[in-house]
Amino acid sequence: MTIDTSKTEQAALDAVPKQLLIGGEWVDGSGGKIAVEDPSTGETLAEVADARPQDALTALDAAAASQESWRDHPPRERSEILRRAHEGMLARIDELALVMTLEMGKPLGESRSEILYAAEFLRWFAEQAVRIDGRYQVAPNGAGRLLVMKQPVGASYLITPWNFPAAMATRKIAPAIAAGATMVLKPAKQTPLSALALAQVLSEAGLPSGVLNVITSDSASAVSEPLIADPRLRKLSFTGSTEVGRKLIEQSARQVLRVSMELGGNAPFIVFGDADVDAAVDGAMIAKMRNIGEACTAANRFYIHDSIAHEFTEKLGKQMGALKVGRGTEEGVAVGPLIDDHARAKVDELVVDAVGRGAATIVGGYRGEGAGYFYMPTVLGNVPDGARLLREEIFGPVAPVKSFREDEQALEQANDTEFGLVAYVYTRDMRRAFRMMEKLDYGMVGVNQGLVSNPAAPFGGVKQSGFGREGGYEGIEEYLETKYCAINV
Ligand code: NAP
Repeated sequence: MTIDTSKTEQAALDAVPKQLLIGGEWVDGSGGKIAVEDPSTGETLAEVADARPQDALTALDAAAASQESWRDHPPRERSEILRRAHEGMLARIDELALVMTLEMGKPLGESRSEILYAAEFLRWFAEQAVRIDGRYQVAPNGAGRLLVMKQPVGASYLITPWNFPAAMATRKIAPAIAAGATMVLKPAKQTPLSALALAQVLSEAGLPSGVLNVITSDSASAVSEPLIADPRLRKLSFTGSTEVGRKLIEQSARQVLRVSMELGGNAPFIVFGDADVDAAVDGAMIAKMRNIGEACTAANRFYIHDSIAHEFTEKLGKQMGALKVGRGTEEGVAVGPLIDDHARAKVDELVVDAVGRGAATIVGGYRGEGAGYFYMPTVLGNVPDGARLLREEIFGPVAPVKSFREDEQALEQANDTEFGLVAYVYTRDMRRAFRMMEKLDYGMVGVNQGLVSNPAAPFGGVKQSGFGREGGYEGIEEYLETKYCAINV
């Protein structure tokens, strides 16, 4: 029996505000409307407001005007707002997950997991809001006193990508709220609905007007440049590609803005000969296929010890080949469409390049059928060194496998990239595990697990994967300034 879900889908979409949120009011943008597409059909789901530079500046006016009163809000109240918003997200999880699946494509189960993950940032930072501390110290000469205090950084501009449309937003919004900073959020134009629904949840949780302002726009650079150039802005936090991040760092230099950058990755997944192969394959499925491979943390290159490479590749191919591809709302679907045709063409180009250079196709290697932007789960074996997908972020369901003999060789190849977000290691040998944790040039290392994301942990990269950390004890520091007072007693 086929169940008609169109009414539920429409109701979930109808419940989401489609305007800009500025100073507590939902208002139209000066640029008309942006169409939001369902990547599984190519059809328009909804239209949202299109902000222009003047709207962005009005949003900054609201954030700047609220900063003074917001920083004086008792931390306990900021904490309670976040806690209520956490509960608000969970109360609406089915609706929020459905909206996310419709605009982004990932299967419903994964969208639910993201809502839980996103909501957890609200809870974690609700707990941190009341733990902002400072220091009182007797100066070494005994004569003076040193007082160190933490204060909110001020009006912040938060730019988020489409791949985790709720979690990438709460990972920035929650610490900013906890720290007492006001903000303007600009979600990606492909997934504005999840961000707008989140803003609604936060407003309902009692967040005062003007603390969070949301602008959706068809022209990201045009609305961002005047904000970044405005002296009232004190902080820029960006999650997205390294290419755009680099441009924003340059723009931020003019004002010497505080900047956090969560950029692209090229994660190696190393399995040593002593590892539990079945556990490594299960971990590989998570590290590769979470979010249809469209994750900055996605395993991009698999380095497998010679002695188990054949077994690992066969088993991975079997699991990947068994995944059901389809619209994320359908029962049993594990792989939804990629975000757009451009993304799919890039994935296909990388696969064609690798196969052209001699890689073996174990499973997949082609586009899916139908109107949506589907790509079949793919495993490539014996991938040669020159293949582009070993150097470039694939951002799709493709697993390239290479074998190695010596530990040193695996380490060298894993570190041979300009990126440094996350690396994964599978081994039962603790000495080897510690050596890898210490020598891998990455901001995060997963040991015998294919998922590192955790709101209680500092998420972030080194090298061209960016700087700054989100989540953990470190996350709130990105929105705090340290002030030191020298006291003559
Ligand atoms: P993107 O093209 O860099 O876009 C990210 C955000 O920046 C979007 O909101 C986009 O707006 C905006 N943007 C684009 N050009 C801009 C400009 N000139 N000025 C200001 N804003 C601009 O990245 P994406 O394709 O959406 O996301 C995928 C990338 O994000 C991947 O590289 C992935 O690795 C990375 N990522 C990193 C992390 C992490 O934590 N390290 C997490 C998730 C994703 P529009 O979309 O409206 O153009």
